[in-house]
Amino acid sequence: MKNNKEESKNPMVYELSPSCQIEDLEIGGNYEGKITRVEKYGFFVSLSKNIYGLLRTRNPKEAVGDKLVVKIAEIKPYKGKKDVDLVYSKIKIDSDYEKTVLKRNVKRTLITDLSNNNMGRNIAIQGEIIQIQQTAGPTIFTIRDETDVTWVAAFNEPGVRMYPELEIEDLVEVLGEVSLHGGKIQIESELIEKLDDAESKELEEKISDAIDKKAEPTDTSMIIEDSETLNKLRPKLANAAKAIRRAILDGRSILVRHHADADGICAGIAVEQAVVPIIKEESNDGDAEWHFFKRSPSKAPFYELEDVVKDLSYSLEDVERHGQKLPLLVLLDNGSTEEDVAALRHSKVYGIEAIVVDHHFPGEVKDGRAMIDDYVDIHVNPYLVGGDSQITAGALAVELAGMINPEIREDIKHFPGIAAVGDHADSVESDKYIELAAEKGYSRDDLDKVATCVDFEAYFLRFMNGRGVMNTLLGLDDKKRQEELLDTLFEESERRVDIQLKAAIPNVKTEYFDNGIQFNLLDVEKFAHKFTYPAPGKTCGYVHDKIVQEKGEENPILTLSHGPDFGVIRATEAVNKMFGFNLNEVIIKINEDIPSAGVDGGGHECAGSLKYVEGLADTVLDAFIDEIKNLKK
Ligand code: MN
Repeated sequence: MKNNKEESKNPMVYELSPSCQIEDLEIGGNYEGKITRVEKYGFFVSLSKNIYGLLRTRNPKEAVGDKLVVKIAEIKPYKGKKDVDLVYSKIKIDSDYEKTVLKRNVKRTLITDLSNNNMGRNIAIQGEIIQIQQTAGPTIFTIRDETDVTWVAAFNEPGVRMYPELEIEDLVEVLGEVSLHGGKIQIESELIEKLDDAESKELEEKISDAIDKKAEPTDTSMIIEDSETLNKLRPKLANAAKAIRRAILDGRSILVRHHADADGICAGIAVEQAVVPIIKEESNDGDAEWHFFKRSPSKAPFYELEDVVKDLSYSLEDVERHGQKLPLLVLLDNGSTEEDVAALRHSKVYGIEAIVVDHHFPGEVKDGRAMIDDYVDIHVNPYLVGGDSQITAGALAVELAGMINPEIREDIKHFPGIAAVGDHADSVESDKYIELAAEKGYSRDDLDKVATCVDFEAYFLRFMNGRGVMNTLLGLDDKKRQEELLDTLFEESERRVDIQLKAAIPNVKTEYFDNGIQFNLLDVEKFAHKFTYPAPGKTCGYVHDKIVQEKGEENPILTLSHGPDFGVIRATEAVNKMFGFNLNEVIIKINEDIPSAGVDGGGHECAGSLKYVEGLADTVLDAFIDEIKNLKK
């Protein structure tokens, strides 16, 4: 047993960290070292990677590899360098002593203070590794501190990963020289070392607080300021904007998934317009916008397992190959319903943070929460605050994009108008958005033309996002080209719709129910061209629109187009307003009544789809028709 008095008398021995220079040594101090060469006149002791000294003694008995404690006797200039003379220390290597790891004492520079003025100087920075990239030459570490982000190059043999022990999210100190690479500041590292646990924790908190502050949206105004529903959604939109900004600053990529129709595409491109400039600003990599932002359309109006397995596979590959963190998932015009649960649950297994901005019916809302809230981090949907699907996802996403990056708000101000017309949204808000689009020179017909052409192009793009072409269609670049492309596509779309309607319209069976509803039925499998534009869903829409145009949209009109195992439903708002019709609820009821039919689907109150097993098609359709017949005012 030792008492405290004895312990305090323990001598102090230093161990040099690799960063130390001769200037850090103290004459008379005791240091741990290792013998690297033995001669007749003495032996050489390495104190660190860069520092060694000579201990003169005749015919030493020591051997290479032996460890010992030495004392610094003298440091003297020799041929422009400095020589270190050592003597034996009284302290034995295996005795009880207090050891201190001595680090090179370079004052820390904050990343924001790095500038051309530091060029060629040795500096020290501390921060978190947010990405590690192996280039054909050096390994590049992206480092963020509480002020900014910078890049550190570690050179060795070309293509060899330096510091294999370092991982993403490690907190490190970098010693190196400030240089320039591609116009941006880069540090050529001499040494990268992990901070100890206490230092790491302290710095991590500082960085987290700073990023949190920087991520906070500075301007949460909206292009429509007087909507009750939107005002109630404002805090959720602001949270979503913050989470997206935070992910960018954290060095995570943004993965946007959206429904492949005009509304969903407006939503996706709005967020893309907001996010990409910030990513470019936060990166030294010219390709950053491609590595850190991905946008893909989903064919179904929900996030499917088919989508999530692809997204996860690519993301996990990026983690392995490009040293990236897992992405932030942003679902637009998608993600709110029961059908999204399986895919979102799947992504949660990997801890993926998910944001949903949608206007599809999310099922029962209790205390402002829907079923999907158990699987997503932020959920923005008008239904959660007493609204409905008549505010489009495109509108919500534009308001979100404005909060993420207020500078692009004006560029995308006409998007909600396109989304409203594309989604047949009927609300005070939608009318206002259409008015705002008029301020930018888009009449209602123009908006309809853009929405139609976006849908037309999306049909042929399938799983591609079509960034360039879509930007042209939406008026984000050359206006003359936009006009030309709209004319070209619209003409072709009209031509194909005509062909489809010629086959379909004469075969629509119309009935007038006692409750006043006009019911139109079309077998789209038999009386429409297959595997072409417009597809069955759109064809139903065009048939319905044509009938409504003739009869007037104030009338309760419902159109059902069906194939062997699916149906598509479109109804005028009057069916919902007069009869309280909600397609989603009808589907739930039929599913309960005929469980073996596997009835599924849904969408909006007055527009959506129905799926069932082929063998029970007649039973399901009869049940659906009965529901409509029995609707009461
Ligand atoms: Mn929509």
